Amino acid sequence: MEEKSASREMFEKLSYKKKNVFEESSPERIKKIFDYSEGYKKYLDTAKTEREAVLEAIKLAESRGYTEYHLGDKINIGDKKYFNNRSKNLLLFRVGKDDIEKDGIRIVAAHIDSPRIDLKQIPLYEDSGMSFFKTHYYGGIKKYQWTTIPLALHGVVVKADGETVNITVGEAEDDPIFYINDLLPHLSADQNSKTLGNAISGETLNILVGGLPYDSEDVSDKIKLTVLSILNEKYGMTEEDFISAELSLVPAYKSRDIGFDRALIGAYGHDDRVCAYPALTALLDTEETDRTVFVILADKEEIGSVGNTGMKSEILYDMIREISRSLGKNEIVVRAHSKCLSADVTAAYDPNFADVYEKRNSAMVSCGAAMSKFTGSRGKSSTNDASAEYVGYIRKLFSENGIIWQTAELGKVDAGGGGTVAMYIAEMNIDTVDLGVPVISMHAPYEVISKADLYTAYEAFRAFIK
Ligand code: MN
Ligand code: MN
Repeated sequence: MEEKSASREMFEKLSYKKKNVFEESSPERIKKIFDYSEGYKKYLDTAKTEREAVLEAIKLAESRGYTEYHLGDKINIGDKKYFNNRSKNLLLFRVGKDDIEKDGIRIVAAHIDSPRIDLKQIPLYEDSGMSFFKTHYYGGIKKYQWTTIPLALHGVVVKADGETVNITVGEAEDDPIFYINDLLPHLSADQNSKTLGNAISGETLNILVGGLPYDSEDVSDKIKLTVLSILNEKYGMTEEDFISAELSLVPAYKSRDIGFDRALIGAYGHDDRVCAYPALTALLDTEETDRTVFVILADKEEIGSVGNTGMKSEILYDMIREISRSLGKNEIVVRAHSKCLSADVTAAYDPNFADVYEKRNSAMVSCGAAMSKFTGSRGKSSTNDASAEYVGYIRKLFSENGIIWQTAELGKVDAGGGGTVAMYIAEMNIDTVDLGVPVISMHAPYEVISKADLYTAYEAFRAFIK
């Protein structure tokens, strides 16, 4: 065996290099990584909307002894609670015996909404032998990617009498699915000359929902009537009920392993359930802590964290105040000493599109959960730029716990950019930094992540909250 030269040894000691998690892992550890991924895939397939993600998270939490918290309840040391904010936003917390004025609260915040296609309030019409739903897309999508793929309908309808009906069509093996048409290549001379962003317009994202005329002589929209009659028969709803509904089209695909070696997972909605799931399971699996820990599963991140179920809602602030008051602590001191990991995805370096990335500072697939000191765009605009001290604190914590992680910047300077919930939590005077899983083809109907990165995110969150 060749001896390492002194300079080689010195180089290894002084220089920084990312590590591939699989390469660093024993076969036993790789098995753990793969086993953990199976639970995640199940969660993905049952939680395609924020409402479903909340329901599934509650099921998991209840199975581990968490009970429902109602605003105004007294909070005690030892409590394991979840607060269900309007079925779209979930706050889970456990109260430890450590002094929260001294140690603060540990917060992991992820979001559970994903880009998708929402129905308009008067969606149904028929034209030329087909009936369609009009839509308005939700979040940042590349519209052309959502045509000619199988779509499932998920959501709720609040009927005239106030009853809420849940609807899911397109997930069961024998369910029908829905569809957005695209133009045949033979007639696409004009469409092909348009830019990618303009080739499909928002108003052509119409959902194909029927083609069978109702057996009637004196109705003009017979195909529309067939659809209405089925909806009425199945859900007791009328066309007017669409006005008070939240119905979304999501890809009808299930999550699948990708590649001969199954190292990767393809699925709809990795952003951001690939952080929400490890955040949730890290909390549920960490029984040995005396800390007070919060996990927030937020809604509306993809449209700016707005509204009373988004991260800009004061609900987190309210909850910290309630815990502080219940325990006789000063909430201002508690917040000042709290720490947060904003758990959102980042772009994984993709060699097929190398020109938009700066390779040295990009997240690499399978090199672990990625920390983004800052996100934003055009000169770090709209970001929480975490302090060197806080990044240093997390770095030391991860190093002491053997976590393989990496740093990330979302693409080249001025190539674009994006934001996360980090800045809204930081605004509460809480130290915050982004840590999440790198994603390939982010916001596409089918996104890709590495099982290794998913698992290290779980390990990182566990180390943070224990
Ligand atoms: Mn996200
Ligand atoms: Mn996103």
